[in-house]
Amino acid sequence: MLGVIQDCFKETTLPELPEVEVVRRGLESRIVGQRLLDVIVRAPRLRFPLAGDLARSMAGARLIMVSRRSKYLLLDFARQSAAGDQSGTLLVHLGMTGTLRFETDVPAPGRHDHVDLNFEQGTLRYRDPRRFGAMLWHPAREGPIATHPLFAKLGVEPLSASFDGAALYAATRGRKVAIKQFLLAGTGVVGVGNIYASESLFRSGIRPTVAAGRLSLARCSRLAEAIRATLNESIAHGGTTLRDFFGSDGQGGYFQNECLVYGREGEPCRNCGAPIRMVRQQQRATFYCSSCQH
Ligand SMILES: [Zn+2]
Repeated sequence: MLGVIQDCFKETTLPELPEVEVVRRGLESRIVGQRLLDVIVRAPRLRFPLAGDLARSMAGARLIMVSRRSKYLLLDFARQSAAGDQSGTLLVHLGMTGTLRFETDVPAPGRHDHVDLNFEQGTLRYRDPRRFGAMLWHPAREGPIATHPLFAKLGVEPLSASFDGAALYAATRGRKVAIKQFLLAGTGVVGVGNIYASESLFRSGIRPTVAAGRLSLARCSRLAEAIRATLNESIAHGGTTLRDFFGSDGQGGYFQNECLVYGREGEPCRNCGAPIRMVRQQQRATFYCSSCQH
């Protein structure tokens, strides 16, 4: 179940990178290896229109891997037929309200259940009340998925080996934009959403309004480490509910811990006791401690 965000995250319901990663792990453990029998599309209009021949393109293919790029899930399918190699990748973005659920005992579809992927041992159902999500089929013959235009301007993956202080330092040189906005833009590093940005900057002692290009290498290293730790903790908390992930009612607790600064305006800093402050940067709320962050 997805779309459930941390306890302290009431302001947003967007699935962020950790939630998408938790979904990826769930798909990996439950569905990889199964053959896709059929695809049922009830509402072809998501953020992009779904290709009319989606079912024909995919049916009979076997799911061999589920990976993630930023907040896109990449489901790799393999299929050899008389017509040649018809392998490809299904890109799934959950938008604002999308959820994926694997059911072995499939209930009748509700009005927001837009797509069913019927596998050998159950149905992966896509539900999305607001329809900002997306599903795209990318045939392998069109080249590696990494070259897809959707990924052209994305920054590095925060949990990959190529993201560290040196990479962040290099990416921020000459940038006058505030470090918090730099993180949210996703061009230097992907997946650091509004809440994770505030939390990571607090952990690394960096004021969210500091110009990105003014951070030293040492501070970039602390920030990169804090981003990685914050995301990993969130994934780990999501992971604890993985067992019943697909069967939950969507209200399960991901992350029972409270945030350090996010959503805590006026409350005492957990480090020094000073009141947490809130500013808006490009309409997004940013929380910080003026005594701990410089
Ligand atoms: Zn403080």
